[in-house]
Amino acid sequence: MQKLTPFDPPIPFTRPTLDEATIASVGDVLRSGWITSGPKVQEFESELSGFFGGRPVRTFANGTSTMEVALRIAGIGPGDEVITTPISWVATSNVILTVGGTPVFVDIDPITHNIDLDQVEAAIGPNTKAIMPVYLAGLPVDMVRLYDIASRHKLRVIEDAAQALGSSWHGSRIGAIGDLISFSFQANKNLTTIEGGCLVCNNDDEARLAEKYRLQGVTRTGLDGMDVDVLGGKFNLTDVNAAIGLQQLIKLGDFQDQRAKLAQRYFDGFAQTSVVEQGLELPVADFAHSNWHMFQIVLPLDRLDTDRAGIMADLKALGIGTGLHYPPIHLFTLYRERGFTEGMFPIAERIGRSIITLPLFPTLTESDVDRIVAAVAHVLETHLK
Ligand SMILES: *Cc1c(COP(=O)(O)O)cnc(C)c1O
Repeated sequence: MQKLTPFDPPIPFTRPTLDEATIASVGDVLRSGWITSGPKVQEFESELSGFFGGRPVRTFANGTSTMEVALRIAGIGPGDEVITTPISWVATSNVILTVGGTPVFVDIDPITHNIDLDQVEAAIGPNTKAIMPVYLAGLPVDMVRLYDIASRHKLRVIEDAAQALGSSWHGSRIGAIGDLISFSFQANKNLTTIEGGCLVCNNDDEARLAEKYRLQGVTRTGLDGMDVDVLGGKFNLTDVNAAIGLQQLIKLGDFQDQRAKLAQRYFDGFAQTSVVEQGLELPVADFAHSNWHMFQIVLPLDRLDTDRAGIMADLKALGIGTGLHYPPIHLFTLYRERGFTEGMFPIAERIGRSIITLPLFPTLTESDVDRIVAAVAHVLETHLK
């Protein structure tokens, strides 16, 4: 086991990987005379479309607006229920509220931390219009079961695949299969445009609707005419962001290989400690499907003399940055005010209390991982009751 010292440089929980070619491509756009949505956005959308097996793709200012537009394309509005997970970034259910819909939460699977598909059907009622699964840390749900449930109940699926770019399901890329699939390019996602997102559509009609909702509902008619027949927002990506995305897309495969290698190092490292016997839960080692967006561990809080904040503080003192993804959405004030209370989704509440995200990004090194594993094992040991 590696020696522990607080004098090594701190390791952040995440860090973007941006090279000189990317920085130069931004300079090129800034010098070009066209800086908002233009040729780079078109090129990025066309590359993304290729990445997703030729399906139409439109980009957006962020993942949140991408999901909002997806819900509008699916026709979700007041009175409509959308089934989703309480363990996600709050954007997932906020956008359901934004379009006037009602989020219906279903508890999560204790192993995958994704929505528990066994419990989805019981939540389907006469007003259910869609299911919005989240692929936490890049691990997809069982796509066959998901789409079987959706088709038997005639529901749309809006996949919040914000964390799942590059993930796959039995050889098919997430986004290349399925209904409406939303991705985020926010700064700590596997591919970043600083802020940004994209929606994979089913056909050109949906892609045209996506364009309308992206820009004030405007349709152009000829060279000098336009009409507005739906209420849209201002959600376009800029050419500066698209230029960054184009460079990132070239390296996505390398990023992902590196992430998988580091994830394997975590598993190998933890296997040489007694953390698992002490009750620490490791992620599912699904190297076939996950893009390793995050490496998350679940603390055995009932066996510790401190809470999660205590463990995170001790890791920080050893120079290890950690993240928290996520507190359960239904326990936020906005959602409690809508009738959600403690005890409704016990697994989500336990995981939401005990999960922490360890550093995982392409420029992390294997010796960084060894240091993190040693620090986690040490901190856990000192707090065992
Ligand atoms: C990042 C993220 C979003 C939101 O994306 P933004 O680009 O930050 O708007 C939504 N859902 C999940 C699961 C995410 O990780």
